[in-house]
Amino acid sequence: MKVKTLVCNCKGLDPFRFADMNTLAFEIESELDVAYAAVHPQLCEQGGNAVLEDVLRSAQDDPDTYVMVCACAEETQKKLFKKALHGSGIHEKHFVAVDARNTTNDGILERIRARLAELADPSKPRH
Ligand code: SF4
Repeated sequence: MKVKTLVCNCKGLDPFRFADMNTLAFEIESELDVAYAAVHPQLCEQGGNAVLEDVLRSAQDDPDTYVMVCACAEETQKKLFKKALHGSGIHEKHFVAVDARNTTNDGILERIRARLAELADPSKPRH
């Protein structure tokens, strides 16, 4: 299983003030089994969407690759990224939305860790 991780800083808005975006990608790569982690300031604007589409397309034909996005609420992400998701052709189960709001780097790492465990063992129920 290969997991490409994108983190959104939401322009540094209030719900993301607890996280240190200068160190988070490094911590994710160091502590968790992901292919890479990268931070973007606003994934739902034009440039951010282009980055997301590129990463989604890179996973399109690979049943072993997942794209994890740590950003706003899961349902909000699905709405904001609807066009990118449809355009990329990625299977919806290979897009993994993680709510990264209102927590520290350690909290985000825990949320990612939990989702990685679920991906590794889909028989486990979601938290
Ligand atoms: S994708 Fe979500 S977290 Fe990122 S800038 Fe847009 S609203 Fe904020």
